[in-house]
Amino acid sequence: MLKSDCLSATGIVCYNALGTSDYATNGITTANEIPIKALSKFPNSEYYNIWVVSEIDGNNAGAGVQGYAYYSGAGSDVDGSVILYNSFGYDPTGALGYNLKNYINRNVTTLDELVHAFNLKHTFEGDVNGTTCPPNSTCSTQGDLCLTQKRTIEMMEIVEQRVQLVQDKILQLL
Ligand SMILES: [Zn+2]
Repeated sequence: MLKSDCLSATGIVCYNALGTSDYATNGITTANEIPIKALSKFPNSEYYNIWVVSEIDGNNAGAGVQGYAYYSGAGSDVDGSVILYNSFGYDPTGALGYNLKNYINRNVTTLDELVHAFNLKHTFEGDVNGTTCPPNSTCSTQGDLCLTQKRTIEMMEIVEQRVQLVQDKILQLL
């Protein structure tokens, strides 16, 4: 990989964010995400940033939010995906030693976030936490069914192939 300053880089950088805001106690949060991301981001005009973090909103890397992403067009201060370290990777048997949670060990969080980066919403978008059937009249703004379901599956297949390629490259570097 070649950065815009023509210096080569692996595309993987590691930062200790424990001294930034309240990252040590809550991980990345709405309040500290901009300074945390500023520590390590690559220009979003040339790269897609994925921050692998130790905690999101004080969840201690446990259940709940495993990651989040911005739709394309987000500001350069936040654009990209955030994923918990123990939800990032494909290691269903644990043989690779990634220490992933056993219920989310097939890289689905990464796939989910990258699909959002392509501006696709969840198929259950607008269901008010499962209490109502979402409207289904405008595929471009509503996430459920219509053509978006087929498009989502196609996009996920493409993203899955790309993620596997990236992971293969990372393993070659390690
Ligand atoms: Zn999602």
